[in-house]
Amino acid sequence: MSENKKITIARGDGIGPEIMDSVLHILEAGGAKIEVEEIDIGEKVYLKGIDTGLSPDAWDSLRRTKIFLKAPITTPRGSGYKSLNVTTRTAFGLFANVRPAQSYRPFIRTKHPDMNVVIIRENEEDVYTGIEHRQTEQVYQCLKLVSRPGTEKIVRYAFEYALVHGRKKVTCFVKDNIMKFTDGLFLQVFNEIAKEYQDIQADNWIIDIGAAKLADTPENFDVIVMPNLYGDILSDIAAQIAGSVGLAGSANIGEHLAMFEAIHGSAPDIAGKNLANPSGLLLSAVMMLVHIQQPEAATLIHNAWLRTIESGIHTADIFEQGISSVRVGTKEFTDAVISKIGMKPHELKAAQYKYGKGIKLNKAVRVHVPKKLAGVDIFIDWDGTDPNELGKKIETISTEQLKLQAITNRGIKVYPEGLPESFCTDHWRCRFGSADWREVDHEQIIALLKKFSGAGFDFIKTENLYTFNGTIGFSEVGA
Ligand code: NAD
Repeated sequence: MSENKKITIARGDGIGPEIMDSVLHILEAGGAKIEVEEIDIGEKVYLKGIDTGLSPDAWDSLRRTKIFLKAPITTPRGSGYKSLNVTTRTAFGLFANVRPAQSYRPFIRTKHPDMNVVIIRENEEDVYTGIEHRQTEQVYQCLKLVSRPGTEKIVRYAFEYALVHGRKKVTCFVKDNIMKFTDGLFLQVFNEIAKEYQDIQADNWIIDIGAAKLADTPENFDVIVMPNLYGDILSDIAAQIAGSVGLAGSANIGEHLAMFEAIHGSAPDIAGKNLANPSGLLLSAVMMLVHIQQPEAATLIHNAWLRTIESGIHTADIFEQGISSVRVGTKEFTDAVISKIGMKPHELKAAQYKYGKGIKLNKAVRVHVPKKLAGVDIFIDWDGTDPNELGKKIETISTEQLKLQAITNRGIKVYPEGLPESFCTDHWRCRFGSADWREVDHEQIIALLKKFSGAGFDFIKTENLYTFNGTIGFSEVGA
């Protein structure tokens, strides 16, 4: 007999303890070979003054077992608390968030009977790095960071996932028509990697129309890969239109650790009332069993759950007259699933998991690209309203090598030759460089900044402008 696999669990807050109890009972009945280490996370840890919501013991356990089955937690409102989910994802490098959304018609109401989509969301980058600043009285910024190695990892993961799970198509959602550098890179990497997977169809949509099509005809999608923010939003929408967010599980996969959790929250409104649906956490646990190479238990448990859903034994959140047969509480639902271990669904497609090699990713190859400093954007906080007045002042401090090219306000060119209708805030960007982006050095930029300071301007940020292999690495100033 093989040894039990150690896993870390956390019961979390609200309905967390009830649904975790339910899932552990079902895992045991389904023959999962696991040994549980329990850690405290969430509200009570935050309230002890640990701002990440994870105690040092919890980190140790996670490092030891490398597998985390997590119930939802309540994040206290207000500043001073970090999101435990974001901390765990980024600290342990959980780069891929895998969120299947499948419909179970006619047993759970949905407008989309044939929906079976897996959203693979990049989990570490984009606007989730938490780098935000207030720069002026009127303007706040959030940095969107997209890296080539991060994008290669998530896109390759999506294609490997499709291969391993017998999926036919991978679609990429981006907004590269607007964010030509960040989302442009994501799409470029997608197109490069897609060529290596000739047996898998690849296509892409601009996120807005892609999202509309996903909501309208989800059956036309298979695996969809996308940057963090879009994936966060669209995976909840996908889960909801498939039937209910309460049914969806997720896996957060990293090279060293994997975390499995339902996508819903701690539902404090129904906590302790035996009303919670444990299905989201249970389906996450099924993903965990597949990940730790226990496909027999995963298959038994998933099929018992499908058979229970088919039997119309439903918790209140999915119960519906005419569709469901009996409304049950968390405990009764758990007993029903356990009583059906060994059975397969009659109408819904039965699950059949196999031992696999798992998904292994190549290390990203670093290619050196020659980079030259070619100019600078200097952002200033200026209280005036007339861009021409500002432009004239700045022309006088512009240098031979670093000439003022343009001034923009929230990205709109306002000098020279701006439009009188453009609305201006107190946040101005002054772009400097030569017309043909000849190389400059740091000293020239420092000298320019000294002139800004000498002229009494509050420069709130500078952004160097580089060319890479002769190609400009910054967005051009629009009209
Ligand atoms: P929620 O998902 O907890 O609840 C939304 C609604 O769905 C509620 O009416 C709730 O009763 C219902 N619901 C959710 N899960 C259910 C289930 N399994 N069975 C039956 N009904 C269910 O979202 P919320 O109310 O916005 O958030 C509550 C708390 O959860 C907040 O503190 C939030 O920060 C936290 N949260 C945690 C996670 C996580 O730990 N991964 C995720 C989302 C929200």
